[in-house]
This record gives sequence, structure tokens and C-alpha cells, in this order.
Amino acid sequence: MRTPLMAGNWKMFKTPAETKAFFEKFLPLVATSTHADVAICPPFVDIAAAVEAAAGSRVGIGGQNCYWQNKEGAFTAEVTPAMLKAAGCTYVIIGHSERRQYFHETDETVLKRTKAALEAGLIPMVCVGELLEERESGRTNEVLATQFNGGIAGLTPEEFAKIVIAYEPVWAIGTGKVATPEIAQDTHKAIRDLVAAKFGAEAAAAVRILYGGSVKPDNVKGLMAKPDIDGALVGGAALKPEDFAGVVNF
Ligand code: 13P
Repeated sequence: MRTPLMAGNWKMFKTPAETKAFFEKFLPLVATSTHADVAICPPFVDIAAAVEAAAGSRVGIGGQNCYWQNKEGAFTAEVTPAMLKAAGCTYVIIGHSERRQYFHETDETVLKRTKAALEAGLIPMVCVGELLEERESGRTNEVLATQFNGGIAGLTPEEFAKIVIAYEPVWAIGTGKVATPEIAQDTHKAIRDLVAAKFGAEAAAAVRILYGGSVKPDNVKGLMAKPDIDGALVGGAALKPEDFAGVVNF
């Protein structure tokens, strides 16, 4: 049985004081819902406040990215996975489409970052997903296969067993246009098939595949009812305690 994971990606939102205020409201709202793992990935500067505020709760904290080596060095503005771990993180998002689109991250660096994150003992949430024009031209599965082969298939089976995959169709992110549960299910199944072909049926049955893109309290239930959808990676609706609690308590 795969335990659902509900993860909030705060992107470039909130200060440390706002982080503290969020957790004060959010934690009581999710204290009794134990059916899912819960994570919040705030900006780097908020991680200390988030870790402190979430201490002793069931909410894990994650980074939104990390560098691809754990050895410290002269790499201005970068953060090692080991630093995230030492700061109290459990998770890290890797290869988000905004990183790929605006900061030129590639499948190759996604793989390197994922390996470094695993080495540091973090749980990587590795993102894949197609653009609107790719879906409209019938290339979704081809794009996902390329991202999987370049960014994930190079993991060892032992490494793969520790990651979470997040399917985020770029056309559904921040647009209010959530994928229908059917479209999401079909695509999650296609991703699970890629996993089965590379890592075997057992690995495919075990890996959690999250859906991301305009998930809200009022559409999460339909998505979570699908057999291959194991949780959500939530942007906008993770910024307000009531909204994210509505998603977590689906
Ligand atoms: P939205 O939920 O705002 O569409 O963002 C999804 C996302 O990119 C989460 O990583």
C-alpha cells in the first residue's frame, strides 16, 4: 500500500514570520489526519522557521532545489543537500518545471541533483511534465519518457526505491486548469509503466507518483480516487492554512 503524500511547494512566497504564522494555523487543522504524509517546501530562508514551527508535528519540511554535490565549495547562491538535511529537511523538490523553464535545468542535472539528495538522506520529489503544445501535438508520453530516461532511469534500483515522482503538466500549473482525474490517471499509469520497464513491477507498484497543477480542496478528492495517483504537489493552495488543510484532509 502506498501512503499518500501531500506536499506544498511555496515557490517564492512568504517570510520567516509568515511561515511561523502559517504553521500556527495549519498544524491544528491536520493534527488528526494520519492517512497521508504531509510536507511543506518553503523558500530556503524560511526553512529554519518552518523546521522549528513544525517540530514534533507530522509535517516534514523540504527544500525546493539543491546543488548536485554535497561537498561545500565556491558556488555562490547554491545549497548542498547535506545542508538541507542538517537544517532539518526531510524532502527536496528536484527538476520543477519552473526550474527547467526559467533556469535552464536539464534532465542531466536533475539526475545529478537527485543522486546527491539521496546521498544526503533526503527524499527527492522528482518532477516531470509536458508543455501544452507537447500534449496538444500528442507527444506527452514521448516527453515523459525522455525526462524519465534522462533524469530518473540512471538511478540504481536502491536509489530509485527512495524517490517520489511528481507529475506536473506545465499547462495545469498556476492556471486553474487542473488535469481531469482521467487525464492525470492515464499519464500516471504511463509513468508507472516506464518505471516497470526499467526497474521492474515491484518498484513500479511501490513508487509514489504525485499529481501537481491547480490542485485545490474541491478537486483533490476526484484525483485521489484514481488508482495511480498517490498524492499531490500543491502550489497556490498550499499558501493558506485552510486551503492546504482541505487538500491534506481530502
Ligand atoms: P499550482 O498548484 O499553483 O498550480 O502549482 C503547482 C506546482 O507547480 C507545485 O509544484
